[in-house]
Amino acid sequence: MSLPGAPQIAYRGDELFIEDCSLSELARRHGTPLYVYSRTSMLAALAGYERALAGREHLVCYAMKANSNLAVLQTFAQAGCGFDIVSGGELERVLAAGVAPSKVVFSGVGKTRAEMRRALDVGVLCFNVESESELEVLSQVASASGATARVSLRVNPDVDAGTHPYISTGLKGNKFGIAHEHAVACYERAAALPGLQVVGIDFHIGSQIADTGPYLDALERMLDLVEAIEARGIPIHHLDLGGGLGITYTDEAPPSAQALVTSLLARIDARGHGHRMIMFEPGRSLVGNAGVLVSEVLYLKPGTGPNGDPAGSAKNFCIVDAAMNDLMRPAMYQAWMRIVACRLRDEPAVVCDVVGPVCESGDWLGRDRPLAVREGEFIAVLSAGAYGMTMASNYNTRGRAAEVMVAGDRAWLIRDREAATELFRGEHLLPLA
Ligand SMILES: *Cc1c(COP(=O)(O)O)cnc(C)c1O
Repeated sequence: MSLPGAPQIAYRGDELFIEDCSLSELARRHGTPLYVYSRTSMLAALAGYERALAGREHLVCYAMKANSNLAVLQTFAQAGCGFDIVSGGELERVLAAGVAPSKVVFSGVGKTRAEMRRALDVGVLCFNVESESELEVLSQVASASGATARVSLRVNPDVDAGTHPYISTGLKGNKFGIAHEHAVACYERAAALPGLQVVGIDFHIGSQIADTGPYLDALERMLDLVEAIEARGIPIHHLDLGGGLGITYTDEAPPSAQALVTSLLARIDARGHGHRMIMFEPGRSLVGNAGVLVSEVLYLKPGTGPNGDPAGSAKNFCIVDAAMNDLMRPAMYQAWMRIVACRLRDEPAVVCDVVGPVCESGDWLGRDRPLAVREGEFIAVLSAGAYGMTMASNYNTRGRAAEVMVAGDRAWLIRDREAATELFRGEHLLPLA
């Protein structure tokens, strides 16, 4: 029986497996909290995009902020994938993973001069520029080092992606991109600046999008702009349709990547733009359902009233060793993530709040969840492959979790658990007696 949205995660008998590895066994071997990823799931997710794009010039650029472990980057790089980065730190990661800079696009609203210089030195494919000021600065930086920066402008199509306000990015009120009505003027400016070469146009309207509609709206508006820009003699080589496709956490039913891309391409072809290079920047949809966070049940703390009492007496708590510092999504976005036992018990489930050890009431992973578990056993938070480890912090001086990659019956430790001494390595006592 596999779990919703996660074909590589399934019970075999009583034991929860990821591919051919038991999660309880991995937890005992590597300790908890532990992130575990299915390499097969990641590659299958990428293949959905690739199938729809086959036969035309294209590049899928994995938005690595979703999960930036070097082994994850390597997995996608070996499959021919490009990368979407948003910082100089991410640039160093892709280089360390052996990625060709010619497959890297640099996004983000606040690139520094130093980040631009480094990206120009290594030769990234394109800068996705988000403001007029950034155009001026990038041109200066490029000219000063005798280089030319290839640029695409991120246009804000002002469409509502219908998602959580914190992860919606394509509305006028967002900090992202260049307003639709200023875009043509910005392209004229870009074409006139000495250090720049216009190569494309991009949008990214938000994250965890469950419908094709907002993409199609954004695409139509982008194609209108492309026609207006080219009418002014500025050629646009590639169309970058961003990322944002949602995954199944509970009962969401987003289109498959293949279906989404196919309908977007049909619209592109119908409007006579089928000759252009096509790019996408998926993050969550490539890795989200490929990962789980495994955690040990430390304490069961029963509420004072009978379970389900309508009088609303105190809750049952399941206190686990993973916390908001390991997985921020529930605390930050009130995100609902499925939580299951790594070993099924033939016992009635108890409804409880699954919480971590951090000293914050916001430190919960799930509320009112039916679970049949004992202390010392393991639970798994599903769909934790995206925006899990990359958003982890050291709050409460908690070392970050270890990470494991699984393929079939093989499992590799791809990141060591962080030790306490590493957490204050760069700190200094005052030189006072
Ligand atoms: C975060 C981000 C993405 C990826 O978003 P997902 O929702 O994870 O697919 C793509 N492009 C840009 C510019 C981003 O900031």
